[in-house]
Amino acid sequence: MKKLGYEELQAYRLSPNFVLSEFCEHSVAQEHGVYNVPNAAGIQRLQAICQNVLQPVRDFYARPVIVLRGYVSPGLNRYLDLCPESEHFNCCAVDFRVEGIKSQDVANYIDAHLPYDVVLLENFDFPWVHLTYVENGNRRLNLTVEAGQRKYPLSKNFSLWELVNSNTATAHKMYNVPDEAGISRLRYVCENILQPVREHFGKPVKVSSGYRSPAVNSVVKGSSPTSQHKKCEAADFEIYGVDNYTLADWIRVNLEFDQLILEHHHPELGPNDGWVHASYTKARKNRRQCLRIGSDGTFHGLGAQKCRH
Ligand SMILES: [Zn+2]
Ligand SMILES: [Zn+2]
Repeated sequence: MKKLGYEELQAYRLSPNFVLSEFCEHSVAQEHGVYNVPNAAGIQRLQAICQNVLQPVRDFYARPVIVLRGYVSPGLNRYLDLCPESEHFNCCAVDFRVEGIKSQDVANYIDAHLPYDVVLLENFDFPWVHLTYVENGNRRLNLTVEAGQRKYPLSKNFSLWELVNSNTATAHKMYNVPDEAGISRLRYVCENILQPVREHFGKPVKVSSGYRSPAVNSVVKGSSPTSQHKKCEAADFEIYGVDNYTLADWIRVNLEFDQLILEHHHPELGPNDGWVHASYTKARKNRRQCLRIGSDGTFHGLGAQKCRH
């Protein structure tokens, strides 16, 4: 397919009120000169989203639908850093809002009346709807609702709710549910770390923090902007009655992990002082890095040897 110019993208109608340029334009793509236009099969999928969901929404509300993110090319993603499994890559996803209408209401309307695969709300302050649509087998999965109902399982003993529930998000009233690509990463953390821990110690594991949306992460004190919590690759947890050093050390010896950190653990203040942070990734080789972090600094190892960085 030859490269389409700006005017051709604007003239390329996907349904009465939607044109292809709305799904391809991106300020970052423009800034870096990235050609962000899908192939013919991708355009067809965008057309299916327009005809089956966006156009009916547009017609029902009779208001402009603002597309915030449609297609994301691999070239563009070098600057955006979405999960490599994101449905935005294959033109099955769109982020949008309807001018003057609460995104919550839009999601409810879609849920009640239209075919869709997944909807979820993102960004509490000025929320938008992230929607995915597939040609066959739309599941009608409202992840904002599913996560809240504590039913959606990630492994035998862990539900999505436990990995997205966040005191910070609640306090700041932020949505904190990732898309399905993110959820599959949370599932890896459960299957490879939390579930084996649960089975070995035979006691409930209290997860204090799993996923943090970019907005939530930015208000968590001391959190790194590159935190693996943001990528759905990490969890903070502990087991009441098991001291955090013992827990971390069992993981070090028995499990595969990317990074294992014993955080703010002062044994003299009790076995559960502080918490254990563990991450797991399938995006690259797990590093098996062990650290201890406290108010006195960051040290290699879980605490036995104390060499300063
Ligand atoms: Zn999205
Ligand atoms: Zn952490």
